[in-house]
Amino acid sequence: MAHEKVLLVTGGSRGIGAAVALKAAEQGWSVLINYVSNAQAADAVAAKIRSLGGAAEIVQGDTGSEDGIAAIFRAVDERFGRLDGLVNNAGVVDQTARVDEMSRERLDRMFAINVVGKIRCASEAVKRMSTRHGGQGGSIVNLSSMAAVLGSPGQYVDYAAAKGAVDTFTVGLAREVAAEGVRVNAIRPGIIDTDIHASGGLPDRAKDLAPSVPMQRAGTADEVAEAVLYLLSPHASYVTGTIMNVSGGR
Ligand code: NAP
Repeated sequence: MAHEKVLLVTGGSRGIGAAVALKAAEQGWSVLINYVSNAQAADAVAAKIRSLGGAAEIVQGDTGSEDGIAAIFRAVDERFGRLDGLVNNAGVVDQTARVDEMSRERLDRMFAINVVGKIRCASEAVKRMSTRHGGQGGSIVNLSSMAAVLGSPGQYVDYAAAKGAVDTFTVGLAREVAAEGVRVNAIRPGIIDTDIHASGGLPDRAKDLAPSVPMQRAGTADEVAEAVLYLLSPHASYVTGTIMNVSGGR
């Protein structure tokens, strides 16, 4: 059983989640890296952490399903025996489409992973961290998006609406558990250079949109991870219910 602070990063195998896992390990967290299909990528992140002297484990689990969430939290309990932080990062887009082209199946998947999965993971984390449940407190950081504010017309309004729900959930849960030692905050990344754009059929999206960003460039996963690590840390001890834009001014 670990004595270090334990952090669960959902979708920690690639992109922003992988950057968070690596940075958290550098700062002394033991990290549980969740992935859904790319075991090789998750293994590579864990191996890099271990090669630098840190502690990391990986766990497969779809955050859009109850079975997946059960597997993830079973791994938390059996392999670490404690939980101090959750980065609710796993998220998906879909092919760009107008709202009048979106199917029911698409919306079900979008909300299952991006909203219900995040609420369920936070719920399981609160059961382990809240002083009300005998825990020692902790911190949750939800990955929202600037899409929540901008609406993503013509691309993925469904994704933007799901991120709006993440924002509201962040504020509500933060207030609900504020007196129980658990802080809850969110980050709204702007255009960040990761694989997510290719998964929506637009591999050049970060490059193409860079000129529209006030800073004239896409952000990096590392730049988002810095903000996540701040919110997880004691430096943010009086920060809860906050939604921080990490978007180059977008
Ligand atoms: P990414 O590069 O596409 O990586 C997605 C990660 O999530 C991978 O580790 C993937 O695992 C995992 N994942 C996907 N579906 C999952 C599921 N159902 N269960 C568990 N894990 C799952 O994405 P990213 O760009 O780093 O985005 C991370 C978060 O930031 C998301 O919530 C996204 O909405 C948000 N965000 C990103 C941007 C951006 O521009 N990149 C902007 C705003 C917000 P596998 O490796 O196994 O596939």
